[in-house]
Amino acid sequence: MEPEQMHMFEAVFNQVAFPITIIKPNAPRFTIIAMNEQRKKASPTPADQLIGKDTFDAFKSWDKNSEEQLELLRKGLMAVIKEKRQVKLPLLYFEFPVKDAPPIRGWAQTEITPIFDKAGKVEYLLSMARDVTERELNRLALAESREKELAMSEELAAMNEELESMNEELKTSNDELQTVNEELACTNEELAVTNEHLSLSNSLLEQSRESLQDLNAELEDRILTRTKALADSETRFRTMFETISHMAWTVNNNAEATFFNKRWHDYTGFSFDQSKGHGWKEALHPDDLDATTNKFRDVQTGLKEGGGIENRFKSIDGEYRWHLTRIVPVKNDAGEIEMWIGTATEINQLKELQQQKDDFISIASHELKTPITSLKGSLQLLERLINEPASPLIPKLIKQSSRSMYKISALVEDLLNLSRISQNRLKLNKSAFNLKSALVAYSNEMRLADQFKVIIQGDENIQVFADEHQINQVLVNFVNNAVKYAPLSKEILVSVEKTGNMAKVTVTDKGPGIPANQLDHLFERYYRVEASDFQASGLGLGLYISAEIIKQHEGQIGVNSELGKGSSFWFTIPVNP
Ligand code: ADP
Repeated sequence: MEPEQMHMFEAVFNQVAFPITIIKPNAPRFTIIAMNEQRKKASPTPADQLIGKDTFDAFKSWDKNSEEQLELLRKGLMAVIKEKRQVKLPLLYFEFPVKDAPPIRGWAQTEITPIFDKAGKVEYLLSMARDVTERELNRLALAESREKELAMSEELAAMNEELESMNEELKTSNDELQTVNEELACTNEELAVTNEHLSLSNSLLEQSRESLQDLNAELEDRILTRTKALADSETRFRTMFETISHMAWTVNNNAEATFFNKRWHDYTGFSFDQSKGHGWKEALHPDDLDATTNKFRDVQTGLKEGGGIENRFKSIDGEYRWHLTRIVPVKNDAGEIEMWIGTATEINQLKELQQQKDDFISIASHELKTPITSLKGSLQLLERLINEPASPLIPKLIKQSSRSMYKISALVEDLLNLSRISQNRLKLNKSAFNLKSALVAYSNEMRLADQFKVIIQGDENIQVFADEHQINQVLVNFVNNAVKYAPLSKEILVSVEKTGNMAKVTVTDKGPGIPANQLDHLFERYYRVEASDFQASGLGLGLYISAEIIKQHEGQIGVNSELGKGSSFWFTIPVNP
């Protein structure tokens, strides 16, 4: 082509009123070869960044939304090459990214035309894109307003229908109103007649209302006085309840508890809500529940006159303690029972003492029975031998009898002393005597089995001022215990010494000894050491009586003991000044 012609074509190319791009058909690259002026103007990207680039590289920076559009373009380009004809692409929507500003959006109507070489092969692709953004925007706006219009006309139609049905209803109501009106006219007449009747009844009613009002006022007065009296008596009871040291509560005629004093709450740890009604029963020992409820029911239904019942209530620390529980009725002036008062008095200590006493009596009778039976046996044998005074059995039987008798009298002595002590009647009959000589004399009187030997040693010159018989009693208790509890210790050592102005007597055995934790209790009433191996007979009284005797002498009593080695029981009494 002549250069002049070239120039002319170029001028024409650039003068065409719509954007043209010339693309090489080198799929899949589709290199951009040229762009006319219109095309360059239409793109915010400078032409030198587009010409010579492959189509899809050049538009790579487009946003994700354009992927679809690029795909349409690709398909179009491919179709032109394949089918060798002009292809009109569907409307392409595009967004050009713009730095620091919103992207430019628009629609383009693109047509791609193949340019053939002489051999009929596609040499170039001519893409002509018309910007139809304005047209599209108008179309979209139109579509939107059509939609709105449609919605509005639908709403109008609905409203119309509603109005119509309301109209119908109005018409029906109108008809009904007319009928009612007619009916009313009839009723009106009837009403006039009824009115007359009514005014008559009204005056009658007025009369009865007045008399009722009088009656009511009278009743109210009575109830008020009664309630006040009740409240007064209840307040009085409650105040009184708080001052007593027993647990107390009130019960209504339905057997429901209605009030508890502070002592109850302190003892059981139950709140009022926990205790009210029948809740208090939770504090009762399960074994006492039936007996208690039966008893209360019998008292409340008048089956029984009253009286108390012994039962156990659980204290806040979980221990059940014995109580004497009673309920008594509170009657009004007319003699009717208004409520009940329950009280529970703690008798735990009493119960324990009672138990101890019962145990003690049973042990004591058993202890007495053994020597009495033996004495009885010996005496029967002796009776049979009455005509044989030379029988060799006689001395043996006499010895046996006197040992039994000795045991009985020792037991009886203990019992007598116990009762004297508990009645504060243990009287001392004091005199001055030589302690060691007295001890020697008593030990000779003791009826010990032959294998035991009492050795008395120490100061011979100690004079004491004491009740000789009672001191003898203490020595007897110590020595008897050594025999009973240390049976393998044949020698029992009794030592006498003077410490300051006191004389001290110690009885030592080589027996099993006593556990340290029990030593403190030995001198308590009824106390006996718990032994796992053997338990000698005894009342748990000897040491208690000894301690009381020594206390009266203003002396001291005690024990030293080591397990496996033996025990030393001792006492001190004042020397004669
Ligand atoms: P009891 O009548 O039971 O002998 P006591 O008051 O004389 O009562 O003694 C109390 C307890 O002390 C006894 O049950 C016994 O366990 C213990 N006891 C007393 N003397 C001795 C001793 N010499 N050796 C070991 N235990 C002793």
